[in-house]
Amino acid sequence: MVQISAAMFRLGTESAFEVLARAQAMAATGKAIVNLCIGQPDFAPPGHVIEAAQRALAEGHHGYTAAPGILPLREAIAADLHRRFHIEIDPDAVLITPGSKVALFYTLLMLGEPGAEIIYPNPAYPGYESILKFTGATGVPYRISEESGFSFSAEEVLSRVTPQTRLVILNSPANPTGGVIDKTQLDLLIAGLEEHPHVAILSDEIYSRIVYDGIPHHTLLSYPSIRDRLILLDGFSKGFSMTGWRLGYAVFPPDMVQHARRIAINCHSCVTTFVQYGGVAALTGPMDAVNHMVATFDQRRRVITDGLNSLRGVTCRLPAGAFYAFPNIMGTGLKSAVLQQRLLEETGVACLSGTSFGAYGEGYIRLSYAADTEVIEEAISRLRGFLAANAA
Ligand code: PLP
Repeated sequence: MVQISAAMFRLGTESAFEVLARAQAMAATGKAIVNLCIGQPDFAPPGHVIEAAQRALAEGHHGYTAAPGILPLREAIAADLHRRFHIEIDPDAVLITPGSKVALFYTLLMLGEPGAEIIYPNPAYPGYESILKFTGATGVPYRISEESGFSFSAEEVLSRVTPQTRLVILNSPANPTGGVIDKTQLDLLIAGLEEHPHVAILSDEIYSRIVYDGIPHHTLLSYPSIRDRLILLDGFSKGFSMTGWRLGYAVFPPDMVQHARRIAINCHSCVTTFVQYGGVAALTGPMDAVNHMVATFDQRRRVITDGLNSLRGVTCRLPAGAFYAFPNIMGTGLKSAVLQQRLLEETGVACLSGTSFGAYGEGYIRLSYAADTEVIEEAISRLRGFLAANAA
């Protein structure tokens, strides 16, 4: 028998992919499925991005690039961060990766090991817990609560710091809650972390372009006191609707960037060359497509939130960012995982249980509104019928 390493049994999965597979299998048997479980925009990438990638192919960009990524893309990222946040970063601090998930994996490989503690949000993107456990590190969750507007308490996070803490993970705007970190709590957290210089901070800002109501995105790059231990994660999947292109990046502090490059050389070599040229076009070209997408999400978030609030046993906050609604379903009397399963099997609506994102997700489900308004309305109508018959 093949002997699999113990670490493999600590690696989790993303139930979104499992629910999607079940929904697709049901659709193949003729069931009318309403799919609100996937975390990807339902828009095409901007046309000029596709053209730039096609041009790169036609112009013969077929070989490997340098492992950190092509300089024009790293320069475009530095210029974009300067334009949006007035921040100076060195293009040499940037590592281009095949999706931001890979930069997350590398960061956790660099910092995680048995005996190390990593503080992370719960409920949150499942990759954090799964990958940190894979490295042998101990996961120390902090709560993302509805009462705090799906933000966190700085006091709670700081109370979890010990001499063994290697890393604190933050994500805003957030998956699965659609929450945006409260600036007061963020200021308090950073001030507190100044007392703990041994702790690195990973800020996952993959949804940074998808915020509503004119609220500015607060990047952690704007806190000079932690810049020497901050890892910024971002990418093109969500903001430019380029999930399948696999293009993301991290900005590493000087102590980490050499290690990150060495892992890249050992693992992915470089990101697909013509995809990197598409990335340059995304950041340097017109932003109309992105603005249109965000304006459309803005309209849909109101439709889905109003719809959910009209259902028996359900209440929903208006999401402040990303494209997820995270309604409280405690009033239905049903557990989150049961509701997820019964909604799919009995009504054909695919959504995710809050517990897919951690134990504190109990009492919630996640619905992605990266879908047409008619699809969202159909989902609400099916939920209404189901809850009228089944809610407590
Ligand atoms: N971080 C968060 C919070 C996410 O929701 C996702 C994708 O769902 C990722 C990272 C990974 O995105 P990608 O690898 O496509 O850049």
